[in-house]
Amino acid sequence: MNLDQAFPVLAGGWAVLAVGGLLAFYVGRNVPFKRKYFAWFHASGIVLFIPLAMSAGMAPAMVAGMTPLVALVSYVHIRSTQFCSACGRTLVQQLPIPRATVCSQCGGELR
Ligand SMILES: [Zn+2]
Repeated sequence: MNLDQAFPVLAGGWAVLAVGGLLAFYVGRNVPFKRKYFAWFHASGIVLFIPLAMSAGMAPAMVAGMTPLVALVSYVHIRSTQFCSACGRTLVQQLPIPRATVCSQCGGELR
């Protein structure tokens, strides 16, 4: 299977990852699961981005240039996301500094 033929498989994998991540991290309330796997979820997206972009016809130099940017965006998103132990919600701050200390949904203390 070459990269052109792999595109539907990779795009399907990307869609499954996106929907699964939405359900697990934004709809679900399992905070220990979220804390354990949120960074892995982002890492999976970065790893999947490289072959997906190349199979979509993006030049290798462009993929090499964009991958660090995708990783940076993922890092900032991870740093700006917190999980409330009291209500189980996922809280994303627009600016990660200063980090919130109280849940905006239930008032519970964030750690
Ligand atoms: Zn809360």
